This record gives sequence, C-alpha cells and structure tokens, in this order.
Amino acid sequence: MLRGSATRAARGARLALAPRARALSAFRDAYLAHVEEREQVGIVPKPLDAAQTAALVEQLKQPEDPPEFLLELLKERVPPGVDEAAYVKASFLAALVKGDVKSPLVDAKEAMRLLGTMQGGYNVAALVEGLELDGELAQIAADALKTTTLVFDAFHDVEQLAQAGNAKAREVMESWANAEWFTGREPLQEKITVTVFKVTGETNTDDLSPAPDAWSRPDIPLHALAMLKNPRDGIDHDDVAGQIAGLKEQGFPLAYVGDVVGTGSSRKSATNSVLWYMGDDVPCVPNKRAGSVCIGGKIAPIFFNTMEDAGALPLEMDVTQMNMGDVIDVYPFEGVAKRHGTDEVLAEFSMKTNVIQDEVRAGGRIPLIIGRGLTAKARASLGMEPSTVFQVPGSPEAPPGYTLAQKMVGRACGVDGVAPGVYCEPLMTTVGSQDTTGPMTRDELKDLACLGFSADLVMQSFCHTAAYPKPVDVVTHATLPDFIRTRGGVSLRPGDGIIHSWLNRMLLPDTVGTGGDSHTRFPVGISFPAGSGLVAFAAATGVMPLDMPESVLVRFTGDMQPGITLRDLVHAIPHAAIQRGLLTVEKQGKKNVFSGRVLEIEGLGHLKCEQAFELSDASAERSAAGCSIKLDPEPVCEYLRSNIVMLKWMVAEGYGDARTLQRRVARMEQFLENPELLEADANAEYAEVIEIDLNEIKEPILCAPNDPDDARTLSDVAGTKIDEVFLGSCMTNIGHFRAAGKLLDADGGVTPTRLWISPPTRMDAAQLTEEGYYSIFGKAGARMEMPGCSLCMGNQARVADAATVVSTSTRNFPNRLGKGANVYLASAELAAVAALKGELPTPQEYLDAMKTIDPTAADTYRYLNFDQLPEFTEAADFALDAEAEDEAKAIAA
Ligand code: SF4
Repeated sequence: MLRGSATRAARGARLALAPRARALSAFRDAYLAHVEEREQVGIVPKPLDAAQTAALVEQLKQPEDPPEFLLELLKERVPPGVDEAAYVKASFLAALVKGDVKSPLVDAKEAMRLLGTMQGGYNVAALVEGLELDGELAQIAADALKTTTLVFDAFHDVEQLAQAGNAKAREVMESWANAEWFTGREPLQEKITVTVFKVTGETNTDDLSPAPDAWSRPDIPLHALAMLKNPRDGIDHDDVAGQIAGLKEQGFPLAYVGDVVGTGSSRKSATNSVLWYMGDDVPCVPNKRAGSVCIGGKIAPIFFNTMEDAGALPLEMDVTQMNMGDVIDVYPFEGVAKRHGTDEVLAEFSMKTNVIQDEVRAGGRIPLIIGRGLTAKARASLGMEPSTVFQVPGSPEAPPGYTLAQKMVGRACGVDGVAPGVYCEPLMTTVGSQDTTGPMTRDELKDLACLGFSADLVMQSFCHTAAYPKPVDVVTHATLPDFIRTRGGVSLRPGDGIIHSWLNRMLLPDTVGTGGDSHTRFPVGISFPAGSGLVAFAAATGVMPLDMPESVLVRFTGDMQPGITLRDLVHAIPHAAIQRGLLTVEKQGKKNVFSGRVLEIEGLGHLKCEQAFELSDASAERSAAGCSIKLDPEPVCEYLRSNIVMLKWMVAEGYGDARTLQRRVARMEQFLENPELLEADANAEYAEVIEIDLNEIKEPILCAPNDPDDARTLSDVAGTKIDEVFLGSCMTNIGHFRAAGKLLDADGGVTPTRLWISPPTRMDAAQLTEEGYYSIFGKAGARMEMPGCSLCMGNQARVADAATVVSTSTRNFPNRLGKGANVYLASAELAAVAALKGELPTPQEYLDAMKTIDPTAADTYRYLNFDQLPEFTEAADFALDAEAEDEAKAIAA
C-alpha cells in the first residue's frame, strides 16, 4: 500500500533528480529503477553505496547524464563520515582540488566546497591540506573547517599550521575558539508552534520500531513504515504516513505527544522513525532527519536521551489537554504550552536542564559535546580563558554521603562520587552492541569518523538474528565482525548466544559502561544503556555524557522461603512499589518511582553474579536509568577467576581482537590481587527506600499480561489456562534449565503445552547436553532453539496468535512474543510446572512440585565456572601477551 507523505517524499526525490527521459547511461538507468522500486512502497531511494559512488565519479569525469542529476547525487545522496562511499567521494573531490583528475561539472573550488559538506572523516585531511593552497581555495577550506567539529587528531595538524604562521589555519583556530560552529546556528526559538500527533496511553519502543521489522532498522525511511502499525485508538495503523501528512497540511511541524513515551528498549530506530516523520532534513546527509518536539507525560530516560542526541526537544508535561490535530504554542523558556494563538494554558513544564537549549542549537547532544571539546582545545591552544558561550549545568550541593552507584560513576570520573543532578562524562570501560542495533551503531561510528575504539572493550553480539536470519542479517553477520575487530573491539559469532551472558563475563568490578541494548545492566559495576548514537559515541571516545540520576534503594531483609526463586524477588520489587503507591499500572498519570533513577539493591550480597544479573537485568522493565547491586567480594572473585579462563579460551578459539581480550584478562588479574569493592556510605541519600522482607514472600510473583509492572501473586492468577511456555532469554542461566529439566523429568510425559527452550549461550547448551538435559527436554516434546534471544524479542520465531503464554523472558509488552498474545512473566520453575499442567498451578501445587527438586538444589544451581572445566582450562594455559599486560598496567597507573 502506498502511504501518503512517504509517497510524496519519494516523488519529490525523483523530481529532484530530473524527469526520466531516455536512458543515457546504465548507471542512471539502474539508479532510476531503484528510485521507482522504492517509490512503489512510498519511500525515498537509499543513499549511494561505494560502488554506485564510484560509478557516479566516472560519470562526473565524462558525463553522459544530465548535470543536475549527477550533481544532486554527488551533493545530497552520498553518506558523509567514514562510510566507504564517503571515502570514494572524498578521494575524488580531493583529486579534483589537486588537479589530478578533471570534471567538466565540478571545478576545484566547488570540489573544496563539497568536501566541506561532508561533516568530518575522510574529507578532513583534504581540507587541512587546502589551508596551504593559494587564494580562494584556502579560504573555502578554512570556512569549511570552521563549521566542521569531527576533526579529532586533525586538530593538531591545524594547530601546527597556525603555530607555523599559516593565516588561514589561525582563522580556523580562532573560529573554533569562538565557537562559531555553534553561534552560527539558530538558537532555540522562544515560541514553537506545532500540530499535536497524539498517541494515547503508553508508546513503547516496540510500537515505534516493531521487533519483527528489526531487519529494516538501518534503512530509516523503510523502517519508519512500520511505526505504529499495530492497531491502537486514534491511529490509522494502515496509513500512519498518510495520517501524518494530513496533519501537516495545517502548515506546522508535528510534535509526538503521548501519556508515556519511549518505554522499553534502547533502540534508536524508535527515535529515527519519529524523526523521519516529524524532523527536518539534514543538508548533504541522505535519509536522516533531526530536530522536532516530543512531549510526554513521562518520557522514558533512554528515549529522552536519544531524542536529545538527535537534536530534538523532549519535554515532560501534562498532556491531558492535548488532542490529535490540536495546534499548540510551546514556550520552552517560559515553560508553558498554550492553545495556538490564545492565552489558554494547556500545561506548564520546565526543561530538564538549561543545557537542552544548547543541544537543540548544536543539532544534538553529541554534536554539542564534541564541539564544546573542540572549542575548549582551541582556546587552550590560543591561551584563552574557557568559553562563556555555552550553558553551564547547575551544580547541586554535594550530598553527605555517596551511594554505591554515585561512587562507581565518581571513580570513572576521577572523583570520590558524583551527586545526583551533576553532569559528568564517566570513562566507559565496557561497551556492548547487539545485532539489531549494531548496523545502526556502525553507521553512527562512520558518522563520527571513528577508525578505532577508545573504550577499553567494545563487544558485538549476534544473538537477536542468528537463529532465523533474513538476507540482510546474513550480510550483517558477514561484515560487522570485521568492522568491530579492525577498530579493536571483540566480535562474537552467530550462534554464540545472548549479548549479556557474554558481556557480563568481560566486566571489571566498580567500572562503568553502556550498551546498545536496554538490558545492558551490569551485575558488577554499573551500566547506563543507551541508543545506538550514544553507544557509538561511547565506543569511539571512551566517555559518555551523563546527568547523574537520583537513586532508589531496594533493601532485602530476612530469609528466602522454600520454593521462592530469584525471579520472584525480581517481581517483588514492582509488587512492593505498587503496594506503597510508588508505582501504578494505569498509564494515564502513571507513577513510577524508578523511572530515570538508579535502582540500587542491597541485602543479597551472597548472590552469585549470574543470579545478581536477574535483578539488574529487570531494572530495564522498571525504566530505571541503571542498576547497582551490592555484592560480597567472594562471588565477584569467583566470577572473575572463571571469566579469566573463558576470555583466554576465546583467544585460543580465534576470537578477536585478541589484544583487547588479553588486556581485559590482565585487568581482571590486577583486581584479584587486591579485591576491594566500593560500598555506599552509611549516610548516602536516596529518593526512596523500599524495604522488602523475604520472610513475607511465600508464593511466586508473576507479571500479568501485558505489562511488566503488573506484578501479582500466583494465588491471583492460578488456574489460568496456558497454551505455550518459553524458557529462555537473558533472564535465564544454566541453573534454570536444570531446575526445569528436573521438574519435567519427574513427570516424565509430554507437556500439553507448546514448550520452547533456548539456553542463553552455546556453552550452556553444550553443558546441558553433556548432563543429559537435552534428552529430557526432547522427551517432554520441547522445541529446542539455538542459543540466543529466541522468542524474547519477537523478531524471529513467535508464539501463536492470541496464545496465553508463560515466559521467563524480560518483558511482556503487547504483541512482543506473538500477535495478540497474553504473556505472564514468571520463573523457569513456575514455567515448567505450568507447562506440565497446561495451566497456572495453585501455590500449593507449585510448592509440592518444587519439593521434588529441593534435595538436589546444590546440583541444580551450579553455574558455569570455566576455571573448573578442563576443556577451557587447557585452552587457557598460556601466558598473556606482554603488550596487553603493559597496556593494562598503564591504565591502572
Ligand atoms: S534475551 Fe530478550 S531482553 Fe535479553 S538481550 Fe535478547 S531480546 Fe533483549
């Protein structure tokens, strides 16, 4: 089906490329065929790839096609940065400047001008060389560099030229010092008039960027067609683009408005889709848009940050007076929204920080940070005082004591602690990327002109797409590993398993990291997950911008009761918050004490790190910004001793980058020499403290369909008929599969439900096979899935339409596991009992079943300690590379 605005956009793109007359070149014919093919689905053509750009270059040298067609492609349709196509374009333009090649359509001056539109990366060297040319060419190069901030090490080249007396280089340095790249842009407007695109209730990122369409995420216009495609009130889900185009006819840009916006995953594709419909074109950058306004009663923190990164203006305010199609005037500095052209106040608000106005002006938070850094360096080089051009974030008073999270972030910033509300840029020690966001992260890295990672360890997984890859995934599997490894990162292989089950085993205690998956929630140290833009920034620069959030402390006391599992404690957190009025399930006027804060957990210090991850992982469902868990040194040391062997085994197995893996081993060994962990100060302050008495949890707690906040006791839902059961996801570890296996084995029959089983990693699968559990699962009639995310994300195999499901996965948003499915989240143990009964058991039935496996609990809940498995210890029996050890020592020093 053709969709309104997208169709018009496609038509616009085609007209801009001149009407189709007769075929003049095979290149043009092929390109126009592509334009037409994309127009059939209502979208603009893809950016040119390297081969197309090379063909375009040949045409520009000896044109057969209309000049306006060729020049439009050269100027607007080649991605900037360090994309391969950008390399071809920049090389051609640099050769034109030098006179090494000729084009009747592009002279040297125009070539230099076009180099200046490429934003950084492969164009920078030619621009810097241009400063030494004569006359106008040098001026064009200087003017281009003044607004280019992605120059990285080339800064020093310009600095040297300036110091050697090059007048143009001096001009550039002064321009950077005076922040002309920033002051030359439009400031945030006093009044912004927008038309409301209202989406009632909660919009999660799956609504904006559905998991089954994950394969199309890097193709922003194509992926945007899937936005809001599932039926919901007020949305024309068959033609969202048409509905949006209709609203735009009022003559104003649109603002995305919702009660709760952006909950769920970290996927930047959700932001991309909103911006594609509501943002502005970026000159000379094909198929990307920036800007726009997003208004939410609540905006999930990661989504908020991703919007900031893209230069949008996210605002939290009461949206009850705003309806679809209303035209409103937003006064960001006054903090009020009024009905257009009237004084009728619809809502009052305040911007999250005063820095947001600079972010919007700079085109996003990331461009602002990079540009500010450049200005600071230029001023220091020129002996100038720090710039006063930029907004300075407020600096709240230091608290009497620091929480564990505040101390960990403090250490990553080189101070004792970071108080809530303070802006900081902590060192990113570990960064994770998964495969449905990985291609977008790759694009962002190219845009950032990144040719090597500054973060100490960057890891890429293939867990979301390995089992049932689409052709586009196969290409990603073949190309992304090299991209990561050549920049010093570590790449897993398809079939290895889930990102977190691997990345957790690479962590260093008390360090900070991030990841392009919202469940990047370290069990040791702390992670602040982010969208692909920020993840790329963190990987490339080794730091990440952070407004330190407040913390909520959950303190467990008492003893675990028989039959109660860690998963029940995970659900006990929202259950307790609901009972205390700190969390509501209802979306309108939703309360969520955890939203945007750090969830800090105490009272379970004895947990193994694998168990601790169950708790930290689920902080994503709380919409928490991060999670810290106070653990005793003993389980952390046990984990590291095991992980050292696993990482060395990876080196022996040919995983790369080997030096990065070995450096991480060396740093783990350093920790084990003196295993001291940070602890919260006794007088640390929390936004809320929630005490949970384990003695009072006597029956399982589940999350009811279809909301991970809707925590209920088993008594409330017992007897519900169950169609399908899923045992898997990053919420599981090998102990869960042994427990489920023993329960299934005790029954001995085939389950009346459809049972899906997917261990988190291939090491778990191998161990379970060796121990005979695969045979038990087979007898129970289970469908065994490749280690990985499996059903959890809903982009691969799915449960039957409208099935009622018990799942051990992370979240049960509507339609995630299957269309119209009703999903209960529960422990593996309860899931196994439900699989056998075909319904949710009563608490007594469940506890009776658990008694059958209690006597062998020590065997059941054994974790994968690689330092006790000969296959791994033998492979890991080698000395570390001296360079890796030296690098680790240098970092420690
Ligand atoms: S198992 Fe689920 S929550 Fe975990 S990483 Fe995979 S898709 Fe995300």
